[in-house]
Formats: sequence, structure tokens, C-alpha cells
Amino acid sequence: LVSRKKKAEDTIVTVNGEPIGQGKPSFVFGPCAVESYTQVAEVAASMQSKGLKLIRGGAYKPRTSPYDFQGLGLEGLKILKQISKEYNLGVVSEIVTPGHLEEALEYIDVIQVGARNMQNFELLKAVGSVNKPVLLKRGISATLDEFVHAAEYIMSQGNDQIILCERGIRTYEKATRNTLDISAVPILKQETHLPVFVDVTHSTGRRDILLPAAKAALAIGADGVMAEVHPDPAVALSDQAQQMNLKQFDEFYESIQKFMNTHHIH
Ligand code: PEP
Ligand code: MN
Repeated sequence: LVSRKKKAEDTIVTVNGEPIGQGKPSFVFGPCAVESYTQVAEVAASMQSKGLKLIRGGAYKPRTSPYDFQGLGLEGLKILKQISKEYNLGVVSEIVTPGHLEEALEYIDVIQVGARNMQNFELLKAVGSVNKPVLLKRGISATLDEFVHAAEYIMSQGNDQIILCERGIRTYEKATRNTLDISAVPILKQETHLPVFVDVTHSTGRRDILLPAAKAALAIGADGVMAEVHPDPAVALSDQAQQMNLKQFDEFYESIQKFMNTHHIH
């Protein structure tokens, strides 16, 4: 169902009035994790001033260690909902188990399925059964064929509002947190009709190369870019090394706008 052979036209997923996959790149910014109302509000205010429409923030965090911050859970979703109303932002947030799904639907606009859950088939079936866009991340060691099949699980249940997100894969290279598989973008665009995003934060794990990675993503045809922004990354409860602060965010966004104008990416 996700194949171009089945449907030739691009699928457009509309979130908070923003058509994703229509040609003009979309952006999803926001903190790794929701930590407090003021933390998210600071990022939201900066986004609103830029005319941005889609915010991210994890309420249920899939952490490597059980002793690390696990997220605020439902409380985090409530904060996101409040922010969404006050700043007119669509909310993208990860759900990690079908058990949380029903409740979450009332608070979020896009269900994120994280890399660690790309082959959680019961979760895929559950998000496939609801009427809400899904941002599906590529698994940490998933081939593109496995990635496309995960999307197929969702669509086979009836939900065709799917955004694919390349977020880097595990290789032997240690210079970056993961290896951004940039060729995944044109391959997924050719083989499926779904919008394709690139998460420059989790793929690189490096603040210093977010901008070139985002330029590469847009140049190669990505429909959108995701990146993490935190008012004070040094005290962030997760992903301290890779989130941009608000000043870096301003510079990043301005540079990306210039790049898009110069290269006529509209
Ligand atoms: C995230 O986007 O919050 C996240 C945990 O990313 P990933 O699932 O790609 O590791
Ligand atoms: Mn993160």
C-alpha cells in the first residue's frame, strides 16, 4: 500500500494547517523531552516568532538506562496540549505502547513511533487503527525494506497518514552518534508515496553539524527536517550534547531559510 507502484501521487499529510509532502519543506523543532511548561514555552515562543507550525517534545522517553529520566508521561502531554493552544503549534510526541495511545490522542496531533519501536508490530497495528498522522522513525539497525514494511503495517490497518523519518543507523563509525543515511531519502521517495523527513539531531548527535546535515537533507529532496531545541541544553534531562539553544536555533533557522532561497527550495 505504501508503494509508488500502488499510488503514483505523493501523499500529503496535513497537520495544524501545514501540508507535509507538498513540496515546501516542513520543520519540526522542540526539546528532546518535555521537562516543564516554561521550558517548552520558551521554545514555542521562538518557533511562533518564526512562523513555525509543528513542535516536538517527548513525554514518554525510551531511554537506554532505566535510571535516566523517563519523561513526564501524561503530565508532559498535558503541557504540550496547553502550549499547542497558546502558540498555535501542532504537537508531535512519541507513544511507546498501545496502552497509552487512546489517552494520548486527545493531546497530540502526530503520533511519533520511535526508532526503538519501529518493529513493535502491535504498536504499529494500534497506530494504524486510529485517525491521526504518524511519524515513523527508522529503526536503529533497520534496512530500508524493513522500514517500508513497518509503514505497511500501519497502512494495512487503514491509517494512510504516515511520515517516514530517517534518523541515522548504527554503523562502526563513532564520530557521529549514528550514521545519517542520506541516500535513504531519494530511495524512500522513489519507492513510496509518503513524505520523508530527516532528523538531523539523532542522526548526527552533534550540534556542530546540524546545519550542513539539514542542508544536505533538503538538497536531496527531504520533505522536512526535525531538530531538537532546548532553552538551556547544558541542564537538559536528556540529549545535552546535541540540542540547540535558542540563539543557535535562530542562526540555524536563518541559515536554512537563506539556503532554501538561494537554491529555490520552496
Ligand atoms: C526522539 O525523537 O525523541 C527519539 C528518541 O528519537 P529516536 O527514536 O530516533 O532515537
Ligand atoms: Mn532526543
